[in-house]
Amino acid sequence: TNKPKIVVLGAGYAGMMTTKRLTQKLGVDEAEIVLINKHNYHYQSTWLHEVAAGTKKPNEARMMISDVINPRRVRLIYDSVVEIKKDENLVVLENGEVTYDYLVISLGFESNTFGIKGMEENAFSIQDIDSCRLIHDHIEYQFAKYNQEDASDDSLTILVGGGGFTGIEFVGELAEQIPKLCKKYDIDRSKARIIDVEAAPRIMPGFDDELVAYAKKSLEDRGVEFRENAKISECKEDCFVIGEGEEIKAGTIVWTGGVTGNSILGKSGFELTKGKVSVNADLRAPEEENIFVLGDCSWVMDEEAGRPYPPTAQLAIQEADTCAANIKALLYSEPLESFVFDNKGTVASLGKKDAMGTVFSDKRLYGTPAAAMKNVIDNRYLFLLGGPKLILKKGKLPF
Ligand code: FAD
Ligand code: NAD
Repeated sequence: TNKPKIVVLGAGYAGMMTTKRLTQKLGVDEAEIVLINKHNYHYQSTWLHEVAAGTKKPNEARMMISDVINPRRVRLIYDSVVEIKKDENLVVLENGEVTYDYLVISLGFESNTFGIKGMEENAFSIQDIDSCRLIHDHIEYQFAKYNQEDASDDSLTILVGGGGFTGIEFVGELAEQIPKLCKKYDIDRSKARIIDVEAAPRIMPGFDDELVAYAKKSLEDRGVEFRENAKISECKEDCFVIGEGEEIKAGTIVWTGGVTGNSILGKSGFELTKGKVSVNADLRAPEEENIFVLGDCSWVMDEEAGRPYPPTAQLAIQEADTCAANIKALLYSEPLESFVFDNKGTVASLGKKDAMGTVFSDKRLYGTPAAAMKNVIDNRYLFLLGGPKLILKKGKLPF
């Protein structure tokens, strides 16, 4: 056929929503749509810390792509992208090749260890379903063997490197899970420690002081320990090295110290700003007529603040709308629209029952109302993607 071919890479927030919007905006005869993803499922990256802690089962945080994207309307290819050859309009996959007329790159984030010695080899990272299931299994194993093998108390320590949003949400889930594991394996709660290590003078640098103080107290009350002003310089098999060589030992070490764009971008010859593509206002890669870059792969300047927007699901979902509209505009040689971010606020969970954040331009929320708001935010995405049916199936319900 002579239909223009739109290829979307990666079925995360940006890729799923772009595909969904394209199917809504374009008729079957107007374009062929292809979605390529590593797995046959879509997972919610924003729930990965729950899978890692074991407070959510892997299957609860993922869904079959074909359950929400009609496979008769969109060609679904389950394969890994290896490289994009932009001069040839070609995507190289592990098991084949695909050509495109329009390309959407939404391959998401990769953990960034900033070259810290031993981190890549010795620490787990919160990356995808499989890496998080591994963290959970490893933690459970430490508890299961403790009384069997006369293991050291350090083996029950969980060390988290980085006190950004991911690190904090993760220790919030651990604070809920660890007492349960202690009970299950007949271990005194005081034997198991959760330690979060942050380089900055305080956790969640840059976020509202009052809310951070609230989060810290809530977590400390539930047994989480914080080491602030503590820069990790090395990760060994059984410890972090901080400051002048102090070692903090643990049986489980998880790095949540930062993320960057997918390394496929660099491999494919895109010019990068801190691992991402600094996109034009219309979300296209510079000097590329037919390539859009979205989500955690994109660097989008917040001109007012003079810094890029933080990489969030909220941003990825909003970019998808602009991208789909702009692809349609390109098909009909119409002018492209500029992306405008509408910040709806930021809420971080602190376990299942507590949360904190800002909503409606800087209104502060704490505790139960914040936790409820967090569920509303999560459910809103499911609604956009699959309507009320998907909320019932995968949503966080208050009952
Ligand atoms: P992703 O969601 O990462 O999706 C990328 C997709 O590409 C994945 O499906 C992956 O399998 C696929 N893929 C990757 N490589 C390949 C390849 N080579 N070939 C084929 N497919 C590939 N943001 C918020 O707004 N609110 C939150 O509460 C929040 N909580 C978070 C909690 C955690 C624990 C984490 C880690 C992040 C959180 N974020 C949150 C940030 C948010 O998850 C990301 O900004 C968002 O996932 C980015 O969306 P994306 O579509 O760019 O990429
Ligand atoms: P981040 O970059 O926001 O935080 C990483 C933290 O690690 C920082 O506080 C940093 O100071 C610390 N760190 C870095 N190097 C260190 C070292 N050597 N020693 C000790 N500490 C070190 O990364 P993140 O938390 O993974 O978040 C990534 C993105 O995802 C952010 O944009 C965030 O807003 C978003 N996110 C949002 C939510 C939410 O909205 N609820 C939840 C999770 C993540």
